[in-house]
Amino acid sequence: MRNILEIKDLSISFKLEDGLFRAVHGVNLSLEEGKVLGIVGESGCGKSVTAMSVLKLLASNAVIDSGEVLYRGKNLLNLSEKEFQRLRGSRIAFIPQDPLNSLNPLYTVGDQILETIRFHRKVSKKEAGRLAVNALKDVKIPEAENRLKEYPHQFSGGMSQRVLIAMALSCNPDIIIADEPTTALDVTVQAQVLDLIREIQRKRNTSVIFITHDLGVVAEFCDYVAVMYAGRIVEYSDVRTIFKNPLHPYTKGLLESLPSEGKGELKVIKGQPPSITEQIPGCVFHPRCPDKMETCDKQLPQLSNIKDSHLASCFLY
Ligand code: SF4
Repeated sequence: MRNILEIKDLSISFKLEDGLFRAVHGVNLSLEEGKVLGIVGESGCGKSVTAMSVLKLLASNAVIDSGEVLYRGKNLLNLSEKEFQRLRGSRIAFIPQDPLNSLNPLYTVGDQILETIRFHRKVSKKEAGRLAVNALKDVKIPEAENRLKEYPHQFSGGMSQRVLIAMALSCNPDIIIADEPTTALDVTVQAQVLDLIREIQRKRNTSVIFITHDLGVVAEFCDYVAVMYAGRIVEYSDVRTIFKNPLHPYTKGLLESLPSEGKGELKVIKGQPPSITEQIPGCVFHPRCPDKMETCDKQLPQLSNIKDSHLASCFLY
């Protein structure tokens, strides 16, 4: 299968008052055409920063220290903002976390979808209107023609997220980056929105990078998963393998903390992930690791292929 996107040796730092601190350390990832790659980890682990670098939407104090982000072989990091604007929203689209704050309250939903379509596609206003109606129908919003005339506050959280998905899909992108797209929604609505994204992704063979803190969502939704901790990928595999045979103690901890029927008391991973200003010698997970060995606080384990493209960075293997 062909890779549509490749992240190579990506390192990103942030300028803070006390200096420059690294948030992403030499990340390598690839996204196969038509597949869903989950990037999972606790907040602050670098998953969103990694994904935002693909969209060139990093905070102004972020510095890319090294690496490449190759879309169909072209390094996105070398494109000017003007060149990138053509790609962002058309070839690479984004579904944000918080639907209610992502739509402009002053404009109707229709105006906002039309603007996206007309920015990226050379179509008449009438044709853009037709495409906007279809976009809302695709995300199963009833009475699409009428709802286009409404303002964001007239939509529930779940319906607003559908509108954002419609906007993301309106130019038929190759890649969608979804950053915790259901976190702000009620549990029942979450499942509907996830099903919808998965259904559309399959129908259109879109490639997706799915950012989440929830391994349960990964199991439902993703084909491959990269587990990140403290700015590094600590485990990577296809989803089935990682659930059947997790290797890294951090991944095992995340799995043990997942609620499921008949599981009894849930285990939690002791302690907190480090902040980016903390310098931890050796394995970055060692202060929280139940399997820590003598060498773990002295040397940094490298991410290596343990078996059949199942990668982990841990001295246990
Ligand atoms: Fe735990 Fe050591 Fe493996 Fe790090 S290298 S995850 S501290 S066993």
